[in-house]
Amino acid sequence: MVKNYPPKTYTSLTEIQADLRTGSTTCAQLVAHYLRNIEAQNATLNAFVAVYAEQARARAVEIDAKIASGTAGRLAGMVLGIKDVLCYKDHGLQAGSKILDGFTSQFTATAVQRVLDEDAIIIGRQNCDEFAMGSSNENSAFGVVRNAIDPARVPGGSSGGSAVAVQADMCLASLGSDTGGSVRQPAAFCGVVGLKPTYARVSRWGLVAYGSSFDCIGPITKCVADAAILLEIMAGSDDFDSTVSDQPVPAYSQNLPLNKKLRIGYLREGLESEGVDAQIKRATSQKLDQIRAAGHQVEAFDFPLIKYFLPTYYVLTTAEASSNLSRFDGVRYGHRSAGATDLVSLYKKSRSEGFGDEVRRRIMLGTFVLSANYYDAYYTKAQKVRRLIAQETQKLFERFDFVVSPTTPTTAFLLGQQTPDPLQMYLADIFTVQANVVGNPCISVPNGADENGLPIGFQIMGSPFEEANLLAFAESLEKI
Ligand code: GLN
Repeated sequence: MVKNYPPKTYTSLTEIQADLRTGSTTCAQLVAHYLRNIEAQNATLNAFVAVYAEQARARAVEIDAKIASGTAGRLAGMVLGIKDVLCYKDHGLQAGSKILDGFTSQFTATAVQRVLDEDAIIIGRQNCDEFAMGSSNENSAFGVVRNAIDPARVPGGSSGGSAVAVQADMCLASLGSDTGGSVRQPAAFCGVVGLKPTYARVSRWGLVAYGSSFDCIGPITKCVADAAILLEIMAGSDDFDSTVSDQPVPAYSQNLPLNKKLRIGYLREGLESEGVDAQIKRATSQKLDQIRAAGHQVEAFDFPLIKYFLPTYYVLTTAEASSNLSRFDGVRYGHRSAGATDLVSLYKKSRSEGFGDEVRRRIMLGTFVLSANYYDAYYTKAQKVRRLIAQETQKLFERFDFVVSPTTPTTAFLLGQQTPDPLQMYLADIFTVQANVVGNPCISVPNGADENGLPIGFQIMGSPFEEANLLAFAESLEKI
């Protein structure tokens, strides 16, 4: 049943900062408000695994003083939650896994440091699927997260806690991570905005690695403008991450007006495939009508390689995960088995006890596709297909400014509904993985709800490093 959805207070940083300027609110009041909401709802929703109440209160007082003296940063008034895969010095970090029991970050992720430097307040650490592997937040050692609109349903994953925290007004915004849809898919299921930036736009320093050539840190917010300011602050070169792009970072938060008429391509499967929920098709085609009515050109396209999206994604990400997760050996971090008798049994037992089913499944798959006899048949082949998908995607952007689809084929499903069949679960990502396979920026914005009140997401993909236009277009949709 859809419960009485909490009345939204603030839906953007702009609103908050206007009230901070006039004195009609303070950071201390904002923190108190979000802490009250956490107190009232977190026991049911399980979005936060740690709440930094005292620190947030103390920081609020400091930032209120900075506001009074005119020295506050650009994120003054933004109360943020961070997914449990982002390092924050001297705070716990477990990536939703038992294998990191008791682990404390030794340093702060670059993206997190940059928002702190602009006076964001971090209110807590958010639940997620173990090592960001999942589409429903049912794979966490901290237990499932529930969708605030209907607690019998999943919030999506893997950044489920981060999406629900924003949905249920337990913070203004969250930082999540997106390897195959983990920011956009839960944003869609929870009725909020989720942005996956271009690969290498934001430093991955301090992000727990899952699939390193796919992983992106991205914001989950109530409005596009908040995603823009967070991206502007997080993006850009970083001495700690040699893969991050040194392309200049545009003032995304300033560039939002968009006056151009655009060419929009929509994926035919998104509107016609039998696997897509009828109400999502209806909402998507209504959105396309609105876009046409706003004067843009809208045209369908076919993308025959769509059938290779998920196999390519799962071969390559499991391969990368099997390598990335080899560092969790019971020696250096977290859980160490008490039953080990020698080094090999220490590795085996610590890893078997510490990792959950989905992570074990993926490590085994990844090890298999990288094994000497199968490397060429799976890993090399998938790399070639990745290249093909990238080439074909690039061609799309010669025809279109943006490529759109529903974010997900269904709305939020019931807890437990998809867990018996991992392949069925993987289908939840059919529309989101392409952007990670090719590295393009991609955003999910709310697009109404189905007849049960469950949110629907509309996804827009842009060309690499064209976030300014992508955000401008997404924001223009908020208005029509
Ligand atoms: N749901 C996808 C997976 O399970 C995506 C996860 C992610 O983006 N971290 O891999």
